[in-house]
Amino acid sequence: MKIKDEEIITKAKELGAIHAKIVPSESIIVSHWVRLKCQYGCNDYGKWKTCPPYTPDTDTMKKVLKEYRKVLLMTAHNHTEASKLAVDMMFWLYSKGLFKAFPLGSGRCRLCDECTPEDCKHPELAYPSMEACSIDVFGTAQTNKIPLQHKNHYLHMCAVLLY
Ligand code: SF4
Repeated sequence: MKIKDEEIITKAKELGAIHAKIVPSESIIVSHWVRLKCQYGCNDYGKWKTCPPYTPDTDTMKKVLKEYRKVLLMTAHNHTEASKLAVDMMFWLYSKGLFKAFPLGSGRCRLCDECTPEDCKHPELAYPSMEACSIDVFGTAQTNKIPLQHKNHYLHMCAVLLY
């Protein structure tokens, strides 16, 4: 079934997206330095199944992105909402027959207080974040003219759906 871009945007906003924009997959910036930032300087490294080293490495992610044509780029008020939005959109696109859709959320997984990477408690809902897959979130948002700065000086969080 063919779904119009406008229908996808409308659904994302219905589900809580602050911004929602469909962009070409080539506009998603994947860089090795992003993984280094996870590996050094982040307390979550190695503790969550949705973070490195469990997530695809940078070169794999570059190849994965080449298999997708479009990306729905969205923002939400916080990590939890952004990640949930991407997963909810994936289930919605599944229901329309787009089984290839894959969500990438924001930050570490927040479904449990402590993670058991080898024995995930919610495998159907736990997806990696954009940054855990080497995506330069700020660069990608800027390239695609998605504002992250809120007027009250906090940052909107980004999530994407590859499809
Ligand atoms: S659902 Fe729980 S166990 Fe699974 S990745 Fe998230 S925090 Fe870890």
